[in-house]
Parts: sequence; structure tokens; C-alpha cells
Amino acid sequence: MVCDACGRPEGGVTAVGETACPVCADRHLRSIDADFLDDYARFGARSRQVVAEACLRALVLSDSSDRKLLAMTIYEQFVAAATDFIGLYHALLNRRNQPIVKGVLGFELDAPAAVSFFNHLSGSGPAELLLALGLPHAEQTAALPATYDRRERKQIKAALAEAHADLERLGEFRTVGERALVNASRRLGGPRTLTDRAGWLAGKHLSAGQVAALALSRDGRGLEINLLGTDEDTLGAVVDGIDIVTRLSRNIIFAFVSLNGPAAFRDGFPSGD
Ligand SMILES: [Zn+2]
Repeated sequence: MVCDACGRPEGGVTAVGETACPVCADRHLRSIDADFLDDYARFGARSRQVVAEACLRALVLSDSSDRKLLAMTIYEQFVAAATDFIGLYHALLNRRNQPIVKGVLGFELDAPAAVSFFNHLSGSGPAELLLALGLPHAEQTAALPATYDRRERKQIKAALAEAHADLERLGEFRTVGERALVNASRRLGGPRTLTDRAGWLAGKHLSAGQVAALALSRDGRGLEINLLGTDEDTLGAVVDGIDIVTRLSRNIIFAFVSLNGPAAFRDGFPSGD
């Protein structure tokens, strides 16, 4: 098949039914990267937060077994929100190698992806991590070209400062966050079930306020059991975690799209941008 755009012979059919070679397909994706990010920050990035907050509100009025199911959904939203954020981080980090939309949508969480994010954060700190994503320090926005008006500078500066503060908070979550994500990545794709009675689970005591998530262990020989709390304080903290990663995604995207013009997106962010 011949590429519709350049005539190269190695064309494949794209999602919109055109034939494109890998070079032209990537060029097309780069042309939609900015709009994709902008839309995601305004709308898609909030989905986990909206679901988790609705569950937390419903939980107050629910009986104990419904509470456990709602609690589990809140945990799942945390894992999903953090996965989305780590996917965005990897996509922006690799922005010179592949279109951002490809990095975000093609991201699959695995243990190394979660660990490498937390290693980067704790090893280099928030400022260096943001710099690796092409984002300057909030104070450097004073040096932006005159094409940015006062209001834009103020918004970009606020987004960068908030992202910096949220990354610091996320660093404090490392032990919990990394373990939750590594566990989640192992279980993804495998069937999992919930239980609220542990009598038949030898050696596992489940208190009244806990729910257990069961999955087959990776070697297939046993069960992995994750005990999760369902009290409002614990779940409130989980929802705070969702708020942090959601706000991070939105602020990082806002600053990134504001600071990179159409030419940078089109040319794949040549070094020195
Ligand atoms: Zn082509």
C-alpha cells in the first residue's frame, strides 16, 4: 500500500481510513498533540476525580456491604488516576521520540514504569523533573518573550508553582503510591474479585471495616490478598491523592501547551526548546 501523503510504499491504514507511512502517520499525530492535551486537561483528566468524589458522597449513606464496593471503586480510581499521570509523564519525557498522543494512549503501566517515575522524582527533585518535561521553574516565567501578556505569565507561573508543590507532596506518598501501582500493574488484565468475609481465607483476619481484593498470584499457585480500609479518613486520603495527580496532570499540560508553540509541536520539540 502506498502512502496517500508522500507516496512511500510502506503505508498502513490509519484510524481515519487513510493510508499513511510511519513518518506521515507520526506527522499527523504531532499535528493534533496540542489539541489532544488541551482537551484532556479540561475534560478527560477529571474523570477519576468525579467518580471518586461521587463514591465518597454516596458512601456516607450506604450500608456496610455497599460501602465496601464503593471503597474499592475509590481505590481503583486512585490507581487509574496515578496510571494516567505516569503515562503523561512518560509521554512528555519521550516527546522527541514519538508523538505525545501516541505515548499517552499507548501507555501500559508496569512495575518499571512506576518505579522509574518515583526514582526520577526522589533522585532529582520536582524542579529537575519538570525541566526534563520541558518546563521551567515558576520564577523563570519573568524571562518569557513579550508575546505573553501579563495574565498569561501569571497563569503559567501559578501552574508551575502548583505542579512543583504537588510533586513534593507526591514524593511523600512514594511508599504507598509505588506499592499500590506496582501491585495494580501486576493484576491488570487478570480477573479479580472482592470479598468481605474472610472466614474461609485461612490465616487472614478481616476486620469489619476492611475489604479484600483477591487475585491469582503471578505464578498461579496461590492468592494475592490486598486488604483495604473503608473508613472515611482513609478514603478521604485516597481521594486527596487523586486530587493531587489530577491537578498535576492539568497544570503540567496547561504550562506545556502554553510554553510550546505550534512549531515546537510540529517539529517534535528539537533540543534547546
Ligand atoms: Zn508518507
